[in-house]
Amino acid sequence: MIRLWTSDEIALATGGSVSGAFTVSGVAFDSREIGPGDLFLALKGESTDGHRFLDQAFAQGAAGALVSEATPHPHVKVADTVLALDALGIAARGRMAGKVIGVTGSVGKTGTKEALFAALDRNDPGCAHRSVKSYNNHTGVPLSLARMPQTARYGVFEMGMNHAGELAQLTRLVRPHVAMVTTIAPAHMGFFESEAAIADAKGEIFQGLLPGGTAIVPFDSPHRERLTAAAAPHAARIVTFGTGEGADFRAVEAMRTSTGGTFVTARFDRRELSFTLAQPGAHWVSNVMGILAAVDAVGGDLELAGLALAEMGGLAGRGARLTVPVAGGTALVIDESYNANPASMRATLAVLAHEPGRKIAVLGEMRELGVHSDAFHAELSGPVKVANIAYAILVGEAMAPLAKALEGQIDFVHVPDASAARDRLDAVLAPGDSVLVKGSNGVRLSTLVAALAERQ
Ligand code: ATP
Ligand code: MG
Repeated sequence: MIRLWTSDEIALATGGSVSGAFTVSGVAFDSREIGPGDLFLALKGESTDGHRFLDQAFAQGAAGALVSEATPHPHVKVADTVLALDALGIAARGRMAGKVIGVTGSVGKTGTKEALFAALDRNDPGCAHRSVKSYNNHTGVPLSLARMPQTARYGVFEMGMNHAGELAQLTRLVRPHVAMVTTIAPAHMGFFESEAAIADAKGEIFQGLLPGGTAIVPFDSPHRERLTAAAAPHAARIVTFGTGEGADFRAVEAMRTSTGGTFVTARFDRRELSFTLAQPGAHWVSNVMGILAAVDAVGGDLELAGLALAEMGGLAGRGARLTVPVAGGTALVIDESYNANPASMRATLAVLAHEPGRKIAVLGEMRELGVHSDAFHAELSGPVKVANIAYAILVGEAMAPLAKALEGQIDFVHVPDASAARDRLDAVLAPGDSVLVKGSNGVRLSTLVAALAERQ
């Protein structure tokens, strides 16, 4: 078990006072995540107060708590636990001597963060740290920092935002050596007027770069210049990645393999490196070029990175592939149930287009698109038609404009929710089919995937 923080170190970092000395090996504020030896952070939110879960946390084995109210359990007491979490994150960052990479973007943050971690872990086994899940906001980022061992050689942090100004704050906590933007696309659009405004907000990540730092920018994005301009005052080097001619890390070849992966050749610095990615899709090839650029920027070995990337299968809800039994054979299910927006819908419909057999798309509504929602849904008719889909199941009210646009064009049904979608899919699924399941998390298409997975 690692020794992450002593109560004295926590008190020093947060300006708090100790009652009952303790040492912790982990940190969490969700009491359900607390395990033996952890520090429980009693945060006060709008709807809940973590102090109510103190007993539960200690029953689960917490070694200490960070609190703002009296408790008989061993603790460090501060005036405000939310501010103390930031302070703990800053202290963790300050005492770590390794290289830190921040990842943001409209889509692909988690997949890129996980792959970057795998690539760095392959370079230096056991010495890389990363944020878990999509812990990318004003609590997730400092929590992920606070979990970083002092001895980590690499730290990889996902950073997200819903409003302008948020990344500027997060990146000042993370203080990355390398900051990467995966993509700019309409996602979490509710608070933005345009994609350009999203690009400006994402570009804030560069403000926290350490002197001498590297900015990594998507070459093929229409917002490349905007991002480059945002990076210029803060970055010693700006490195581009993608597929277009002129990208610093460029995929010059990307071929689908018979096993459903992609054979890629990357060109950079007059070098070439070829490897096979376990995952298909042009979007993943692009992310991988950015990952190589980031590994290179922190001095990692790119061939080792390539080996790790070759093993990266799709994450649950983000491209995982399942083979499920169907009477008389099996069907392929691509689980993209975790989220959806116009860019990732297009990217994954393009993946489905190359799958064998009859193609079925279960498409849940895309949320958080604000006033543009109807237009974005209707515009999916193009990629749906191009993907040569035999049958589509559209799920949720917001899909109505797409249903209208597809009328008379392809065979489809429009259903209200995930459970109706599941019934429809059960009724039509046949051996040899390839099924894409994608929608915003709130549509809960993950329940449909779980039901299919149970058949395995
Ligand atoms: P969130 O904002 O919810 O944290 P995220 O940015 O972390 O999302 P991921 O979870 O990594 O995004 O990926 C979500 C989906 O986006 C993937 O399942 C895939 O369909 C798609 N995707 C990933 N990278 C790209 C890309 N470069 N371009 C388009 N789509 C992409
Ligand atoms: Mg994420």
